[in-house]
Amino acid sequence: MHFSDLDLNKPLLKAIFEKNYETPTEIQQKTIPLVLAKKDVIASAQTGTGKTAAFALPILQLLFHQQNANKKQKNIRALIVSPTRELAQQINDEFTDYSKYTNLNSTVVYGGVSIDPQKKVIKKGVDILIATPGRLLDLCKQEIIDLSSIEILVLDEADLMLDMGFIDDIKKIHSLCPAEKQVLLFSATMPSKVVHFAKSLLTNPEIVEIISKKSEATKVKQLLYYVPKPNKIELCLQLLRNTIKGNILIFRRTRKGVDNLEQTLLKNGFKVETLHGEKSQNLRQNALNKFKNNEVNILIATDVASRGIDIEDLDVVINFDIPNVSETYVHRIGRTGRAGKKGTSYSFCSIDEKKYIADIQKTIKKAIPIVEDHPFALKPKVKTKDKTKGKGKDHKKKNSTNTKKGRKSAASKKNKKRWY
Ligand code: AMP
Repeated sequence: MHFSDLDLNKPLLKAIFEKNYETPTEIQQKTIPLVLAKKDVIASAQTGTGKTAAFALPILQLLFHQQNANKKQKNIRALIVSPTRELAQQINDEFTDYSKYTNLNSTVVYGGVSIDPQKKVIKKGVDILIATPGRLLDLCKQEIIDLSSIEILVLDEADLMLDMGFIDDIKKIHSLCPAEKQVLLFSATMPSKVVHFAKSLLTNPEIVEIISKKSEATKVKQLLYYVPKPNKIELCLQLLRNTIKGNILIFRRTRKGVDNLEQTLLKNGFKVETLHGEKSQNLRQNALNKFKNNEVNILIATDVASRGIDIEDLDVVINFDIPNVSETYVHRIGRTGRAGKKGTSYSFCSIDEKKYIADIQKTIKKAIPIVEDHPFALKPKVKTKDKTKGKGKDHKKKNSTNTKKGRKSAASKKNKKRWY
């Protein structure tokens, strides 16, 4: 299939051509005709599948008939709600590219930065608004933004919006828009809470599912390192010095973890940037730009701060902490190995995180290969085997002995020095 088969007009096709897209991705092939037919759509697709263009292109096409409205007479006709600022910015960047040869314009509003410049742009008149929920409601309250002309509402990364506690905000935003509108909902995962939420907001929605994504994520070369928690940093340094090359995204569970790891890596001469929720918007954008422009090759991030961000050409994902939700693991490793490129994930699992591995393996439907040949190995095999065999006290004792042995290994302590 070609973009020209999708009923898109010449100005859009020209912009697509300039982006060097050869063919529409699966989500685009399935979603664009439905949006053009003015259907409500629920689409399960992750970042990296081309989902932004899957809604941006048909929205621009649908709004095209009134594109010549005077700038001052412009009402906001399409609203895209995004959970994170970076994602909102990225969506606006894509709208800007695709609308290049039209008279339609878009802007983005989000919190963490000054509100006044945003007010000015809105007052000048925009067709398409991309927004995070809090700042959007703030501007609605101040009567700077009027949602009464919305024709199309897009809820992007719906699962993340629910996880971040935006449910009431979204309901409010939905109610501020006219009752009659087209609603499109995109979500990386479809747990029942998202389905339930979608049902309450959409009318007879068409469902689009990109099934191949999960198996694509599992094509990434995955490696599992069992390692005592205090040795994770040494293992990480060793791998970064000797084994891992390229652009690397390291996931940590907490902001503090991100900061600590950053300090250690900086002290050891690595070029590092970080992303977490407590960083100001400018600093976050700065960090992301440096990583994207190859000024640094290591980005350390928490899950929420990095979700939805389009980072291309990622060679490696390191799970410094194992996520306690298996879907998160799939998301994380799915950030590498995209578009036929090779990708590798390294997961560092300490004793207290072992319980999450079983769930993850169930989700990805395979066992993650364990790397035992490293100086800090925990000898997990013995424990895994025992777990299935027995439940008694002896079993527990046996495990704890093994673990201690692994921790106290003199060889590993010696090695520790060598690796530094
Ligand atoms: P998204 O899933 O929307 O975050 O898109 C991921 C990346 O894919 C973005 O950098 C887009 O510019 C790019 N992209 C979107 N559609 C296509 C396409 N049809 N062919 C190649 N790249 C695309």
